[in-house]
Amino acid sequence: MKAISFSKYGMENLNIIDLPEPEGKLKVKITKAGLNPLDYNLIMGNVVYGVEPFPHIPGSEVMGIAMEDGKIIRKGDRVIVYNRIFDNSCEMCYSGNEHLCNNGGIWGVVTNGGYSEYISMGEQNLFRVPDNIDDNTAVSIGIGALTSYRAIKRAAPSAGKKLLVYGAGNTGIFTIQLAKLMGLDVYALSRKHDLEKLGITVFNSVPDNFKADIVINPLGDGLLSDSLKHLKRRGRLITYGVLTGRTGEIDIADIYTNEKEIIGSTGGSRGDLYELLDILKNHRFYLPVYKEYSLWNINDALYDYKNRESGRIVFNL
Ligand SMILES: [Zn+2]
Repeated sequence: MKAISFSKYGMENLNIIDLPEPEGKLKVKITKAGLNPLDYNLIMGNVVYGVEPFPHIPGSEVMGIAMEDGKIIRKGDRVIVYNRIFDNSCEMCYSGNEHLCNNGGIWGVVTNGGYSEYISMGEQNLFRVPDNIDDNTAVSIGIGALTSYRAIKRAAPSAGKKLLVYGAGNTGIFTIQLAKLMGLDVYALSRKHDLEKLGITVFNSVPDNFKADIVINPLGDGLLSDSLKHLKRRGRLITYGVLTGRTGEIDIADIYTNEKEIIGSTGGSRGDLYELLDILKNHRFYLPVYKEYSLWNINDALYDYKNRESGRIVFNL
């Protein structure tokens, strides 16, 4: 089978290699893959995780067709990969937080990923896709939708609360729609005013006097102080990314005198994914796709990734 692999970081070092088809667990023929900041940064060597093995097959967000029967999955089922490696035997796993497994990591980072024709995967990491979820939405669930869903949950939302999200990329677009479904009053900081059709308010810059109960800022340091400024007393700031910088300054007095909370979130548990699939099967989500590429033209996609205005990049196989 063919796969994308690299021995050195940098898009110029990607190769199409030929490998034996994987065996041992449930075999899945990959039909689509996503390109996320995680995948892009991994290929470019901007990594916050330990990467192995080398040479490495990237790709942490894929969907495909089951090639054989498992205990629950049936041959021919459309499946997505739950992309966390976990041991089912640590305190994190026992408490339903297997995405934080003490002996785990991200599939495609601490193991080879799914930019290949086939994978072999245990059923604990495979979820069947409900019929009424289309392929492009399905392939965006493993990272984009799941990260957004857990991030909102971490803020313990309740209907009517104001939520402000910074940026409207792949995760932001899901955040907006999931938060609307939960009955939240949603605002976004974005240049994309077409998002107003989702029934939200879009700011070019957040008005000085605006304050939200929940602020979701995956953009990192560049907008950290702005996020805290627009957080109400007892509000919760959720973060899951560092696009504009990893370290930042905070006014500690502002945090404690106003009882503000800063909460981290990463990926999601299998329980979160299960709940999310239930939501997505009953509601059609707006998901702008910039362009679809053949996986074997990955360099074109990586080049366009940074230059495109908006919309996600999807690979077909
Ligand atoms: Zn564990």
